Amino acid sequence: MADKKQNKRNNKNYDEDYNPRFRKQRKKVCVLCRDKNFELDYKNPEQLKKFVNEKGKILPRRTTGACSKHQRDITIAVKRARHIAILPYAQN
Ligand SMILES: [Zn+2]
Repeated sequence: MADKKQNKRNNKNYDEDYNPRFRKQRKKVCVLCRDKNFELDYKNPEQLKKFVNEKGKILPRRTTGACSKHQRDITIAVKRARHIAILPYAQN
């Protein structure tokens, strides 16, 4: 591990850290898949706040890291929460 790091510093041109083309993409694991006990609840605003930005918009999958199935669940939960006025439709 230490050797690899040293090597990276030595050839900057091919470096994953410096050249965006070689930047390592860390695969995000869906929070809902990772934690089996995680239950998405539309009545829990604290939980849903993680999936909306400060304007109240639902975050995209690339940000939440959720899989398509769970992103759909998140979207439905947020929309339900908005309907019962737990989450705002828009802020400011
Ligand atoms: Zn998932």
